Amino acid sequence: RTVYVNGEYLPETEAKVSIFDRAFLMADGVYEVTSVLDGKLVDFDGHATRLARSLSELDMPEGPSRDELLEIHRELVRINEVTDGLVYLQITRGAPGDRDFVFPDPATTPPTVVLFTQSKPGLADDPKAKVGLSIVSVDDLRWSRRDIKTVQLLYPSMGKMIAKAQGKDDVWMVEDGHVTEGSSNNAYFIKGNTIVTRPLSNDILHGITRAAVLRFAEEAQMAVEERLFTIAEAQEADEAFITSASAFVMPVVEIDGVALGDGKPGPKAARLREIYLDESRKVAI
Ligand code: PMP
Repeated sequence: RTVYVNGEYLPETEAKVSIFDRAFLMADGVYEVTSVLDGKLVDFDGHATRLARSLSELDMPEGPSRDELLEIHRELVRINEVTDGLVYLQITRGAPGDRDFVFPDPATTPPTVVLFTQSKPGLADDPKAKVGLSIVSVDDLRWSRRDIKTVQLLYPSMGKMIAKAQGKDDVWMVEDGHVTEGSSNNAYFIKGNTIVTRPLSNDILHGITRAAVLRFAEEAQMAVEERLFTIAEAQEADEAFITSASAFVMPVVEIDGVALGDGKPGPKAARLREIYLDESRKVAI
């Protein structure tokens, strides 16, 4: 596989970053994941806009321009012949000579920019979408700026392991009695004709897929209520689902051992998934 590091396209075995890189020492970096369907990028502009915001919130210099980023994404997809899959992008605060808590001067310590692709043939036909996910709840032990897409992913990673140890698929995190989000996705339930999901704030990542799905709710003739909700309320729902750039819309069929409805993926989440995939394919670039 060919990857991109700081202006160069290299075989992955030759790509290197410093051991002093602040992402390696301090998780001082941000990232984006953009999915690829039929060789095209889904919602590239949404991801580029969120990346710029993450950088700015952390006082990191502006990264490559939107057009440069698009060019790199496309070049990697082309060279690596990705039909379905994703492009991972990471920008870190670079590698000063020493380990130091104080941010280095960006004039002398340029950011580290890394991109690589992951091929996932049949990404849109994930058999999990036909079965649905089983979720367990855990306390949300992350920091309070979850709106910034940083590479501090240890707790979400531990969450996935907690779920796995119980034979489940993923976790929903709970803070002050209310669901924040999934380990790497936004969380929703459906009651009647209404989609309920937590409002945007610093408590959750502002999902690019979330924004798209809420836009498409109207096409699915569904209402949207952005408000706090509990695990108990979601367990009483007709359906539930998660969204992320790589999972699209994925139904949830069980929460903390309680089956939703008949325990099978429901028609409304399935419809939202279909609309999301159709519309995304249409506008992918
Ligand atoms: N929340 C968290 C914590 C995430 O890590 C992600 C995906 N990276 C999402 C939500 C979904 O965001 P998006 O739809 O932009 O992939």
